[in-house]
Amino acid sequence: GPFLARPHPAAYSEPVSTDCLFCRIVERSVPATVVHETETVLAFRDIAPQADTHILVIPKEHHSDAAAMAAADPQLAGEVLAVAGEVAKIDGVDASGYRLVFNTGEDGGQTVFHAHCHVLGGRNLTWPPG
Ligand code: 5GP
Repeated sequence: GPFLARPHPAAYSEPVSTDCLFCRIVERSVPATVVHETETVLAFRDIAPQADTHILVIPKEHHSDAAAMAAADPQLAGEVLAVAGEVAKIDGVDASGYRLVFNTGEDGGQTVFHAHCHVLGGRNLTWPPG
C-alpha cells in the first residue's frame, strides 16, 4: 500500500547500472574469468594482475564503493569479505598470506566505481603501498 515504508529510490544506489563495467561483468555481457560466485557476490580475476593472485570480489548489486555498500547493506559487505577469504583459499594463498584492498575515491586510486575488494597474494607485498 501507499504507506509501506518504501524509501525514495534516490536514497539507494541502483541495483544495476548499465554504465558500470562491473555491472556488465555481473550480467555476463562483458567476459571475465570467474573464480567463485554466490547468490550475491562475484569473484573474478583482475585484467591487469599486480601479483600471481589478483582477484576482484564484488557485490552483484551496484554500490559505488565499499563504504556505501557497508552503509546500505552490512550483511552484503560481510559476504564480500567472506568470499575474499574463500578465493584466497582457492588460489592457495591463505597460508602464506594475502592483502585485501578497497581503493576508495580519487586519492585512494579507485578507477571503477562499483565496490570491489582486491585480493592480492602470491608474493611478499610491500608496505606502505605507493
Ligand atoms: P580500482 O583501481 O578501482 O581499485 O580497481 C579496478 C580494477 O579493475 C583494476 O585493478 C583494473 O585492472 C581492473 N579492471 C579494469 N577493467 C577490467 C575489466 O574489464 N576486467 C577485469 N577483469 N578487470 C578490470
